[in-house]
Amino acid sequence: MSDLLVRRAARVFGWPEGDPLAIVVEGGRIADVLPDSKLTAKARAEVPELDAAGRAVTPGFVDAHTHLVFSGSRHDEFAARLEGRPYEAGGIMSTVRATRTASLEELTEGVVRRAEQCTDGGTTTIEVKSGYGLSTEAERRSLEAVRLAGERAAATLVPTFLGAHLNPEPGYIDLVIEEMLPACAPFAEGCDAFCDVGALTVDESRRVLEAGIRHGLVPRIHAEELAHTGGAALAAEVGCASADHLVHVTERDAKLLKAAGVVAVLLPATSFCLRSEYAPARMLIDAGVTIAISTDCNPGTSYTTSMPFVIAVACSELGLTVDEAVRAATEGGAAALRRDDIGQLRVGARADLTVVDGEHWVDLAYHPGMPVIGNVVKDGRVVR
Ligand SMILES: [Zn+2]
Repeated sequence: MSDLLVRRAARVFGWPEGDPLAIVVEGGRIADVLPDSKLTAKARAEVPELDAAGRAVTPGFVDAHTHLVFSGSRHDEFAARLEGRPYEAGGIMSTVRATRTASLEELTEGVVRRAEQCTDGGTTTIEVKSGYGLSTEAERRSLEAVRLAGERAAATLVPTFLGAHLNPEPGYIDLVIEEMLPACAPFAEGCDAFCDVGALTVDESRRVLEAGIRHGLVPRIHAEELAHTGGAALAAEVGCASADHLVHVTERDAKLLKAAGVVAVLLPATSFCLRSEYAPARMLIDAGVTIAISTDCNPGTSYTTSMPFVIAVACSELGLTVDEAVRAATEGGAAALRRDDIGQLRVGARADLTVVDGEHWVDLAYHPGMPVIGNVVKDGRVVR
């Protein structure tokens, strides 16, 4: 929880443009944003400085949907898909086999490594789902790995229990509710369910999410990715913090999401990697639904930790403006995680910020695939 002066920013996301700006950080929080020329010599003498040197500053990215706890690789599946084999939810089982044999230390190392890669791309908060264990012991170990990794990673990690990633055998949903949830809830903040063709039905998802709520977990859901099965309406019904993917969401669903205050977490990198359809982002925005964009980082369908890449794809394929995409990657992600102290550079918020390596954050989308992140600050401490 540091003090810091970020100096000579060309522009700061959410603040009026004009003279170069300074951001005053006290105790890890933003205390002021003001013209750099108005900083007093006294203020400058006492506090460490980060010279933004005419570059742009955005809030640190909030990646509200990742699956960073896993072992093994699915490069074979990726290559095979390019040769014409379609993606089905069952591909998850190959990662499950590798994850079940990994030790707590191995899983922890993997999460730390990927979380650091996220932060290299400007991310300061990461939601991390379990879901490649699918047994009480392996799900619990996965969430323990997230907790241990959170003590070492620069970013804040937000753990979600996703024992309901598949429904691999009869009686499995009962096991999730009666055994896994009690064992895993102490390690998790949220409870997710993969409601889709080949995974859980709406009724199975409802049972899991309602059980999660009874354990004090925030419900969230994978919905309408591979087909329209009713997950978005369920999200509104049970009061999910977010409904994620939404490729096949309808206007009727959008009205329900808006009315229930459910955040739509869109995952355009997944559509990009699968060469499949994109979510109707503009329809959701026009319906008044709050939008977040996230990486969905996972070994099967979207192996990227890069929020700048997601912003670029959101602009080119979802049709967002750059400001809409940056807001979805920051404030939107924070809303999906029900956080009000991150995702915006307002006075009083946590000093989690990203110095873009360019004079405008438009470069995030304008230079896809290039190194566009200069520095990253977490709780007022320079971590990149
Ligand atoms: Zn996912």
